[in-house]
Amino acid sequence: MSDCIFCKIINNEIPSTRVYEDEFVIGFKDLNPLAKEHYLFIHRDHSENINDITDSDPAQLSDVFKAISKFTKDSGLASTGFRVVTNQGVDGGQTVFHTHFHVLGGEKLAGFGS
Ligand code: 5GP
Ligand code: ZN
Repeated sequence: MSDCIFCKIINNEIPSTRVYEDEFVIGFKDLNPLAKEHYLFIHRDHSENINDITDSDPAQLSDVFKAISKFTKDSGLASTGFRVVTNQGVDGGQTVFHTHFHVLGGEKLAGFGS
């Protein structure tokens, strides 16, 4: 989508610090990190949110999770642990409407939902 900032990042129209890329997926550093390590993983095909991607092409979810698995193993994050978060809609706190998965780690993260 031409007005989508993450599509622009995929097309290198907006700079980003890439940490991972393959045929289907890219991973890059979040501009405003909420943990010592904070990355965003996105499919190269535009979809709006997790329900949209699930309806349109659920295989893309495994593309993204395979990428996260490979990256976290290669970078060492998998050995210390990490968290994956996705936000959908206003109440979920979604601000960018290209499906993305936050990968957070590099330190002990605060408890979630407690
Ligand atoms: P959301 O709030 O939609 O779940 O997450 C959007 C994330 O994208 C936020 O954590 C925000 O910091 C990040 N973000 C927004 N614009 C940019 C950008 O231009 N570059 C990068 N690297 N991250 C961005
Ligand atoms: Zn997009």
